[in-house]
Amino acid sequence: MQTHPQRIGILGGTFNPIHIGHLRFARSMADTLHLQQVLLMPCTVPPHKAASGILPFATRITILKAALQDTADNRLCISSLEAELTPPSYTWNLLTAFRKKHPQTEPVFALGGEDFTLLRTWYRGMELPKLTHLFVAPRSGREAEAFKSSVEAYWPGSVIKQNGSLLEASPNGMSYRCYFFPLPHLQVSSSHLRSVWMAGGDISRFIPHSALQYLEAHRDEITKIWNEAPVGDPQ
Ligand code: ATP
Repeated sequence: MQTHPQRIGILGGTFNPIHIGHLRFARSMADTLHLQQVLLMPCTVPPHKAASGILPFATRITILKAALQDTADNRLCISSLEAELTPPSYTWNLLTAFRKKHPQTEPVFALGGEDFTLLRTWYRGMELPKLTHLFVAPRSGREAEAFKSSVEAYWPGSVIKQNGSLLEASPNGMSYRCYFFPLPHLQVSSSHLRSVWMAGGDISRFIPHSALQYLEAHRDEITKIWNEAPVGDPQ
């Protein structure tokens, strides 16, 4: 595949906390699209999640830094652009701000397959490929068919090509592409890790060593915040 030095990957998320699923997603995007850089971009107040139960932005950044130290992949970097924006953190606003700051750069925004099927519900979701490429990977199971039918439904008349295991869609009327990569499923989520860790379980296989060390060193304050998650919110 052709390299595009002007492209930069963006993996947004809550990162409450970061785990190996995030890292693998970011690296596979860099590998697949030959990106020299992928920015991990934590959100301040996620529009779809309750604000309580989420570690402060600065703490999540500190844990991300610790995780990246261990990862030793210099393509992965942290961006705190979200902290400069007015909440709520809509992807449209984030990418508009990113493009203003980096007019020569084409962002490639990563999202899970389920989120892609819900794109219509996002603020200006249908217009996102005017601002950015999208890199979609399954969060569970095989979601390639759902990707194809969503592209057809969102932007009728779009062309979808198969490029090895990568699907490449050119959404009709839009400037940028949507990619689907069949990343094998890795069953890990921040919510699951929070609940296992707070119950005293071992999460060392799922989170880089230095990030886990930070959690352990601040166990009391972190547990207090994670316990504030509203009733009914998945821990
Ligand atoms: P929570 O369990 O608190 O909802 P999470 O584990 O889903 O958190 P987020 O920070 O919300 O993590 O996710 C950030 C991004 O990383 C999203 O695009 C999400 O789809 C993706 N992601 C998270 N976990 C995985 C995983 N195991 N495999 C692939 N992608 C993942």
